Amino acid sequence: MDHFLYRDGALYAEDVPVAEIAAAVGTPFYCYSTATLSRHFRLFDEALEGTDHLVCYAMKAASNQAILRTLADLGAGMDVVSGGEYARARAAGVPGEKIVFSGVGKTRDEMRMALEGGIRQFNVESEPELQALSEVALSLGVVAPITVRVNPDVDAKTHEKISTGKAENKFGIPISRARAVYAHAASLPGIKVVGIDVHIGSQLTDLEPYRAAYRKVAELTEALRADGHEITRLDLGGGLGIPYTRDNTAPPLPVEYGQMVKEELAHLGCEIEIEPGRLIAGNAGIMVSRVIYVKSGQDRDFLILDGAMNDLIRPAMYDAHHDIIPVIEPAAATEPELYDVVGPVCESGDTFAKRRALPPMAEGDLVAFRSAGAYGAVMSSEYNTRPLIPEVLVKGDQFAVIRRRPTFDEMINRDTIPEWL
Ligand SMILES: *Cc1c(COP(=O)(O)O)cnc(C)c1O
Repeated sequence: MDHFLYRDGALYAEDVPVAEIAAAVGTPFYCYSTATLSRHFRLFDEALEGTDHLVCYAMKAASNQAILRTLADLGAGMDVVSGGEYARARAAGVPGEKIVFSGVGKTRDEMRMALEGGIRQFNVESEPELQALSEVALSLGVVAPITVRVNPDVDAKTHEKISTGKAENKFGIPISRARAVYAHAASLPGIKVVGIDVHIGSQLTDLEPYRAAYRKVAELTEALRADGHEITRLDLGGGLGIPYTRDNTAPPLPVEYGQMVKEELAHLGCEIEIEPGRLIAGNAGIMVSRVIYVKSGQDRDFLILDGAMNDLIRPAMYDAHHDIIPVIEPAAATEPELYDVVGPVCESGDTFAKRRALPPMAEGDLVAFRSAGAYGAVMSSEYNTRPLIPEVLVKGDQFAVIRRRPTFDEMINRDTIPEWL
């Protein structure tokens, strides 16, 4: 459920007409709904009610300061995967004790930054990382709380580029080696084992891979406790999928996920952490774009938009589907036409959709890409020297630009010409 609905024939973001925002900020732009963000966070928080838990928003999905502040004000922790994200979380007011640090390639500088600034735990993904963290913590005279991310070798049954829990993926350590790695961790100075971490992939549409992974985590918890480790925390990762179309079968709801978590893990008495990203931000955002031209090709019509693959790369990168809807609601009897929906970038991959049914469109018309709130703005680039597009946050009948469009000069002036040139 989201808050981008037609009202009297026009698309609204909560109580604001999308066309009004387009007139004020220009196209293309991202637009987020506070109500949807908040609702999705609360669904997870409520799903784990009755167990000690923390919902750590995986901020790589959408990391604007205003989004982070919105969620932090509701009590969210954050899952960060870089020093930059750590800095963003802190800048938005998230205390260090609510930040977990994930990722396969944490540098010593990043470790230092988090240890000095405060951190809930590092989710360690390899033995060399464990060694490095021990050294950094010792040099600072502090102790680093850690979990080890285990790779349970389950098939998340999602797109291969976002599957992370199979033995062939780069993530985590094989669960079969976990006891040896924990023994090593316990022997290292500056390291304190607090729990176990697992994250098997993104856009999961079935609870069974989770259940299989969490059963292995439960077994491992018992084994590690028998080995003398204090396992008080289980970080269960994120990855619950969202509906990208309105007609397909919907993925499981957070409440169903929470129920399964309790069934599999409550008896262990651990504090539970989860790291949802997409489900919180995905359907809380749209990308709005304007038709530049309608071009007749040999056997098809192209809808050429001012938004492009550099603004929203998911279709080019993951063959992802986004519903595309006109900002003016078509009359009920309108006969749709088929368009290839493309951007202006000089790549054939700059295609959002092929043979997409839309009402007849004309130059200047506005369209909205639904479900663009996660892995949208954060993955954008300035390819073709196209400015990063603005982000707008709506709350009720108010809206604000939360990241403005840079000028051409701002983009160009980041380059320097060496004095010897
Ligand atoms: C990307 C990621 C997440 C969030 O995944 P979603 O599919 O957006 O919920 C959570 N944890 C880790 C470690 C991740 O890398």
